[in-house]
Amino acid sequence: MDLLPPESHTLLVVDDEPDNFDVIESMLRNQGYTLHYVANGQTALDCLNTVRPDLILLDVMMPGLDGMAVCRQIKALPQGLGVPIIMVTALDSKQDLSRCLEAGADDFLSKPINWVELLARVRSMLRIRQQYQQLMNFNAELETLVQQRTAQLQAMIDRDALTQLPSRTRLLQATSMALQSAKSSKEGAEERAIDTPASSYNVALAHLDCDHFKLVNGAFGYDVGNDLLKAIAQRLQQQLRPGDMLARMGGDEFCFLLHHLDRPAMLESWTQTVFDSFAKPFRVANCDFFVSVCMGVALTDTATAQPETLLQAADTAMHRAKQQGKGSYQLFDAQLTTATRDRLALETDLQRALEHQEFVTYYQPIVRLATGQVVGFEALVRWRHPERQLVSPAEFIPCMEETGLVVQVGLVVLQQACEQLQTWHQQGAPDLTVSVNLSVRQFDSPTLLADIDQVLAATGVNPACLKLEITESALMQDAEAAIAVMEQLRSRQIQISLDDFGTGYSSLGYLHRFPIDTLKIDRSFVQQIHTGHRNHQVINTIIALSSQLSLSVIAEGIETSEQLQFLQVLGCEFGQGYLFDKPQPASEISLKRPPSYADLAVSLLEAPTVPT
Ligand code: C2E
Ligand code: MG
Ligand code: MG
Repeated sequence: MDLLPPESHTLLVVDDEPDNFDVIESMLRNQGYTLHYVANGQTALDCLNTVRPDLILLDVMMPGLDGMAVCRQIKALPQGLGVPIIMVTALDSKQDLSRCLEAGADDFLSKPINWVELLARVRSMLRIRQQYQQLMNFNAELETLVQQRTAQLQAMIDRDALTQLPSRTRLLQATSMALQSAKSSKEGAEERAIDTPASSYNVALAHLDCDHFKLVNGAFGYDVGNDLLKAIAQRLQQQLRPGDMLARMGGDEFCFLLHHLDRPAMLESWTQTVFDSFAKPFRVANCDFFVSVCMGVALTDTATAQPETLLQAADTAMHRAKQQGKGSYQLFDAQLTTATRDRLALETDLQRALEHQEFVTYYQPIVRLATGQVVGFEALVRWRHPERQLVSPAEFIPCMEETGLVVQVGLVVLQQACEQLQTWHQQGAPDLTVSVNLSVRQFDSPTLLADIDQVLAATGVNPACLKLEITESALMQDAEAAIAVMEQLRSRQIQISLDDFGTGYSSLGYLHRFPIDTLKIDRSFVQQIHTGHRNHQVINTIIALSSQLSLSVIAEGIETSEQLQFLQVLGCEFGQGYLFDKPQPASEISLKRPPSYADLAVSLLEAPTVPT
C-alpha cells in the first residue's frame, strides 16, 4: 500500500522536556510531516479535536498526568480511536513495556532516540493508521449503502408498488396504533367517569375483494388488469375519511382502516357510498369495465383486539360475503368464526375421506310411471364417516365444489357406478341405465373427457347406458364451451340430463340450443302439484315443451301416490322418489327379483293420458 504524502500526516509530540521535542523535530524535519508539540498530558487531551493527529509520540514520565494515564484516556475518546500512540520512554524493562501495551500503546521508542528507529516506527504506525482509516471509510460507505437499501426495503414493505397505497404491513401497524390509542382514550374516559356511547366503535376494518377480477386478467392481460387496479385504488381513495387509511392487501383486495364510527348508521352510510362508487364503469384501455366488490367489515369496541385478529375477522366476513354473490356485504359476528373453523375442519376431513375411500355410491331407481318398471338408477354419493352416520351429499358437496375435490370424488362415483352398471348388464338387464351427477366444477374440468374415456375403457360399459346429470348453472357459465363438451359426450353416445330443472334460470327458451336428452323436474315442483296450484300448470308446460323438443322428462322427489297420479295424468314419462325407493347400496338391489313398482302404477291405469 502506498503511503499518503507526508505533509498530509500530522504528528503530535507530548513531552514535558521541550528539548526532547527539538530532537524529534530535527530528526523528522526533512520528512515533511506536520509536527505539533504540547508539554503535558492535559493539553494533549484538550487539543485532540483541533490538531487531529495521525500519530502521537507520547513521553511516559511527565509531571501531572503521566504518559500511561494520557494513553488510556486518549484511547477511550472517540477522536482517539484508531490514532496510533508510540510511547517514548527511558524505561526499558519488559515490565514497563508491557504496562505501556496494557495502557493501549501501539509501539514504543527508547530514549535516547535513534533517528533510524524513529523513522521506521513512525512510518510503520502511519501505515497502520492509513489502513485503519481506509477500513473506516469502507465501513462508512457500507453503512450508508445498508441504510439506503434498508430504506428502500422499508418503502417496499410499507407501500404497494402498483398503487402506491400503504401495504398490509402498514395497515397492521396503523391498526395496532389505532387500537392502542382507542384503549388509552377509553381508559381516560373511565378515569374521568365519562360515559362513552354504548354503540361507539373505535376501530373497524373493511376488507374488499373485487368480483371475478381474474376474468379481466385472463381476457385483457395483466397490463390492463394492473391499470384497472390502479383506477379502482384511486376511486376507493376518494372514500377515505380524514384520518382513515386505505391499503392494498395484494391481488384485487383492499382494506380500509376506519376510526371513530360513533354510530352504527355512520358505517352503514359509508359502506353504501363505497358500493355506490362502483356504479360508474372504469375507463381503462379504451374499454368500460363494470366492477363490483364484496365487503366484509369487522368492528371492535373493546380495543383489546389484536390487529391480526381484527383483520382475520374482516377477511372471514368478506369470504362469507363472497359466498352470497357479487356485490355482497357482511358484518363480522362471532358465529362466522365458528362456521369458518367448522368449514376448514370439513375440508381436511373430506380430503382424508377421499384417501381412506370412505365415499360410496347409493342407487335410487328411476321408474317408467305408466308401468312401474325400473329403467335405470341414479347414482348418489354417500360418505361413510368413521364416527358419524352416513353423511348426505348436501352436507359436503358444496364444500367439495369450492375446493375442487368434487372432481376427484366425482370420478370415484363414476367409476363405481359404471362398474355396477356393467355387473347389472351382465346379470341380464342390458338396457338398464345409470345416471351420474356432474358438478359445475367437474363439467368445467379440462380432464373431464379423458377421465370418462378412461372409466369407460376400464369398465367396458356400454356408453349409451350412461347418463350424466348437469345443472343449469353448468350451462350458463359459458354456453359455447358447454355445448362443445356436450357434443363430445354425445359423440360417445353418452346421454345428458338437465337436473333440478326449474330451480335455476328456468327458461325453456334456451333449451333447444343445448344437446340435451332428458329434463329432470325439480322436487320442489312435484311436492306441490295439486290442481289449481301454479306448479301444476308449470309441469304441464314443461312436459308439453319437452315433447316438442323430443326430450324425455323425469319427475324428481315423488313421495305420494297423489303426486304420482297427477304426474301420470300430465303425461310425465319417468319419475323417482321415496314412493318407489330411497337411494340404497347396490347390495340391497337384487336384479333376480327386479324391483318393479307395477302395484303402484296399476292404481293409475285408469288415468286417461297415461301412455301405454
Ligand atoms: P339430485 O341429483 O337432484 O338428486 C336427487 C336428490 O333427491 C337425492 O338427494 C335424493 O336422495 C333425493 N330424493 C330422491 N327422491 C326423493 C324424495 O322422494 N323426497 C326427498 N325429500 N328427496 C328425494 P341426495 O342423495 O341427498 O343428493 C343431493 C344432491 O347432491 C343431488 O341432487 C346432487 O345434486 C348432489 N349429488 C349427489 N351425489 C352426487 C355426486 O356423486 N356428484 C355430484 N356432483 N353431486 C352429487
Ligand atoms: Mg341428480
Ligand atoms: Mg335433482
